[in-house]
Amino acid sequence: MFIVHVAAELAPIAKVGGLGDVVYGLSKEHLRNGHQVEIILPKYDCIHCEFLHELKIEIPDLKISSGNVAIWSADLAGLRIKLVESLAGGKCFSREKIYGFSDDVERFLLLSESALVYLSQIKQLPDVIHVHDWHTAILPALQKKEKKLKEIKSVLTLHNLQHQGICDPALLKKLKYESPQPANLLKMGIISADAVTTVSPSYEKEIKTPLGGFGLEETLLKNQNKLTGILNGIDAEIWNPEKDPMLFQRYTSASIESTLNGKAANREHLRQLLGLEKSAQPLVACITRLVSQKGPELIKYSLLKTLTKGAQFVLLGAAGPKEIFNDFQDLKSKLSKNQNCSIQFDQNEALAHLIYAAADLFIIPSLFEPCGLTQLIAMRYGTIPVARKTGGLADTVFDIDTSNTPFNERNGFTFDFPDNAGIDWALDRALNCYANDREKWQKLIAQATAHDFTWKQSAEAYLKIYSKTRDIR
Ligand code: ADP
Repeated sequence: MFIVHVAAELAPIAKVGGLGDVVYGLSKEHLRNGHQVEIILPKYDCIHCEFLHELKIEIPDLKISSGNVAIWSADLAGLRIKLVESLAGGKCFSREKIYGFSDDVERFLLLSESALVYLSQIKQLPDVIHVHDWHTAILPALQKKEKKLKEIKSVLTLHNLQHQGICDPALLKKLKYESPQPANLLKMGIISADAVTTVSPSYEKEIKTPLGGFGLEETLLKNQNKLTGILNGIDAEIWNPEKDPMLFQRYTSASIESTLNGKAANREHLRQLLGLEKSAQPLVACITRLVSQKGPELIKYSLLKTLTKGAQFVLLGAAGPKEIFNDFQDLKSKLSKNQNCSIQFDQNEALAHLIYAAADLFIIPSLFEPCGLTQLIAMRYGTIPVARKTGGLADTVFDIDTSNTPFNERNGFTFDFPDNAGIDWALDRALNCYANDREKWQKLIAQATAHDFTWKQSAEAYLKIYSKTRDIR
């Protein structure tokens, strides 16, 4: 099959969060299984070109309604990449970061239109166009109006319902698209795509309710026949403690001794790196974007509670909204002399890898979580998740004491409600288990690392959906 993804992110060259990991991991798995995969994304200035090979201009001057773009081509670990460079004024993608600008809608409309015009010019048409989140959700609607492309099937994946690309319909006029006021790009995608997927079975249920649907629950209910929840995986080559070049000491999860020794060596190294004191106490970690979805109040509470209990805490937080960031900055200054805690404000891939390997516990108190990758990565590295039971977290983290799943599949600590009592209930049990029940602790590590985090099954589920759309007339 020939699959074309059009997306705002792609790991490792342009990643903000899970979206980038998912587009990369799914594409790699399809490539491994003999499919042809191409990914179209913006040529951001901040792109990590060092991962690309054979980067060259393929089309120097492609005309679209808002000016001209250039299409670059490159190879990323066997994947074919097309990068859209905006040649018009306004420096659409020549900025220091990927999102967060007042003209984000215009920027991603430019990406979507460029992809459409590019695809209508190439010789070999894809079997399926797979778009992701609001950024490219308009494509299925536009594509249906293009004579040459209208037979191609389209799939939209919803990675997060919170952001929908709500905008003035005037912005769509250039694309000859009429929309009621206000336009909602994600909604247009849900209505127009041949199939809609989201990133976990639980989230698929949650988004059809007022609590999880962010106003799109009715649209999703009306379109539920074409909606499926498929769990994300993680890329087994990038996230592999046996081969990870970013670790201080590599280890294999095939042996508990190797895992325990490897983690201890990485922990010691991380402590030195971050100026934490030597300690026999466990290390609790959190790697996250600092946004409301991730439960910042509960992250703070977990950090302070961990310190009260005598354990250590590392937070690697990518800055989000100012109020939340300022709050954590205050906390950091208050704790500046505390050598049991380190707060790093950074988007730092190398440090993230080391923390996943070094930590004992990993806290994820999300208010909602479509799938979540950090719990999967943590488990892969033998780090036990303490997670709120919501969305994909509920589908992948099973409480060692209370879950209904068979004992040998239980892999962490969970809590139902996103409040301090929830954290108390789960974190107390986790720290107690670490301190007082080594046998249970080691079982937990073995069961967490044995969790199937791969893309294998999910990539097959996507292929089934691609094939099913081909039967739609
Ligand atoms: P989201 O997409 O909502 O941010 P996910 O759990 O789906 O959450 O994916 C998060 C991805 O981003 C993981 O690969 C995680 O390691 C990475 N990540 C999150 N915050 C940081 C950070 N501050 N530095 C480096 N990587 C981060």
